Amino acid sequence: MLANSLIELDRAHLIHPVSSYRGHEKLGVRVLRSAKGATVTEASGHQLVDGFAGLWCVNAGYGHESIVEAAARQMRELPYATGYFDLGCEAAIRLAAELADRAPGDLNHIYFTLGGSDAVDSTVRFIRYYWHAKGKPERDQFISIEQGYHGSSTVGAGLTALPGFHAGFGVPFDWQHKIPSPYPYRNPVGTNADAIIAASIRDLKSKIEAIGAERVAAFYAEPIQGSGGVIVPPKGWIKAIRDLCSQYDILFIADEVITGFGRTGPLFACSQDEIVPDFMTTAKGLTSGYVPMGAVFMSDRVYNVIADAAGNTAVGHGYTYSAHPVSAAVGLEVLKLYEGGLLENGVKAGARLMAGLESLRDHPLVGDVRGRGMLAAVELVVDKIKKTPLPSAAMPARRIFDRAWENGLVIRAFSHGVLGYAPPLCCTDDDIDAILERTRKTLDQTL
Ligand code: PLP
Repeated sequence: MLANSLIELDRAHLIHPVSSYRGHEKLGVRVLRSAKGATVTEASGHQLVDGFAGLWCVNAGYGHESIVEAAARQMRELPYATGYFDLGCEAAIRLAAELADRAPGDLNHIYFTLGGSDAVDSTVRFIRYYWHAKGKPERDQFISIEQGYHGSSTVGAGLTALPGFHAGFGVPFDWQHKIPSPYPYRNPVGTNADAIIAASIRDLKSKIEAIGAERVAAFYAEPIQGSGGVIVPPKGWIKAIRDLCSQYDILFIADEVITGFGRTGPLFACSQDEIVPDFMTTAKGLTSGYVPMGAVFMSDRVYNVIADAAGNTAVGHGYTYSAHPVSAAVGLEVLKLYEGGLLENGVKAGARLMAGLESLRDHPLVGDVRGRGMLAAVELVVDKIKKTPLPSAAMPARRIFDRAWENGLVIRAFSHGVLGYAPPLCCTDDDIDAILERTRKTLDQTL
């Protein structure tokens, strides 16, 4: 009864992110009631293993009392403090210091945002400021990668290269350029790692030269492309691209909104890839989704240029909720949990997940299995030799998502027949086995 009235209220009033408004009105909402560990429970009582950690964000898992306590303590003591007017709060200062301490290389300066989109947006602002400060305002062109996702703000959606985020919105802007994705399963140069890296180098060089090297401000890459379908570039790819950007004095931004905070194993994928970007953007796992927060990591080099140029003048970029004390207190507690065993458990659970997904390769619908740590994908095809994607009209991703849901599994079903996995790092062996069994059952029902 309650659920029915909620469905009506939802239909009438709540606009859902990235949804078909009319489609959603017909389908209605599925209301979640509670969650613990890696399990979420619907209002109906139906329980599911959350193989996607909400929206690849609840890395620590649900129901940690210590996180709730940290937030409540901070709310009681000081629920809000601005960072404007040289003010601050202890939690944000401590979190910035802890993050800088763990960040790759000289990424020693942290700017807190509310999430990933405004973290990306902030980098664009800082980068423009940086090039003005360097006396090169003509460096105002930005390059990113096909199938990349960098958020849904007006600027970020233009760096994003997924058509669904462009149609009808007037983006990308003419200063936002793209190069092809290093997609190993569907790459015109084949699956050989060296060939893929060489092709990306060629593509980026020719894009830079077409724009004019002296015009290019920055290049954006996700260490693993998440929303594009968990596309894992070959080992060495990101380092080669980072080095090329350095040769041209182009700033390199690693967007770790998904890959950060244990998703691929360590706190940051950049450490695994042995690169130090000029900026790193993070969000999601930073607070494990308990409260909103993002963080821009800025290198000493960039920070000093901006700081020296501004002198005693304010750098005019900031939000009311930058460095929110409650989010910062949660971030500090989440970091403790990661380092108190969750990262380690994630590595173990990730190995079990990857091995189990690999064993699905014998399934007639499975064309590719890929991933790193607790971030993985299974790409479905109807013809393994020709790599023919599932026909989206006859077999819409939504139907696979619904079947998995009925089977007690939350996954992401991308429109091009890719199933995405990003379970919480707290998963037990039983959780991982349930994800695998329920995936196979769902695939069998899809045949
Ligand atoms: N960048 C990447 C790589 C992301 O995956 C996302 C979100 O999924 C964002 C940016 C945007 O983050 P948010 O949704 O917190 O605004």
